[in-house]
Amino acid sequence: MILSDGWFLPIHTDEYKCLESISNFMDDITQQIEELKLEIEKLREEIKNIPPHKHCVNCGISIPPDKDFCSTKCEEEWNRMVKKKKNITYFWLLLMVILLLILLVTSGGL
Ligand SMILES: [Zn+2]
Repeated sequence: MILSDGWFLPIHTDEYKCLESISNFMDDITQQIEELKLEIEKLREEIKNIPPHKHCVNCGISIPPDKDFCSTKCEEEWNRMVKKKKNITYFWLLLMVILLLILLVTSGGL
């Protein structure tokens, strides 16, 4: 094997093939890194061009930054869902209290 500075390195053919494949692999990785750097730079430029905005709390579409919902329909839908979740939470809380009372009464605690 002849090194880049002109020196000859006595090396077995298999070792040379191994070094060559590592070298090719490193070249491929270096090329991929350069391509990804370009991609990152392109995406950074795209991000700069995105106007300030928010996303609708209910459906997720893009809306002006001073609003929380895209439409009154979405706001009503969201409020209904929040109310439903609260009711489910209260139901389970009440059930737990009832079960606890039953447990206390049947075990002679009260
Ligand atoms: Zn929406």
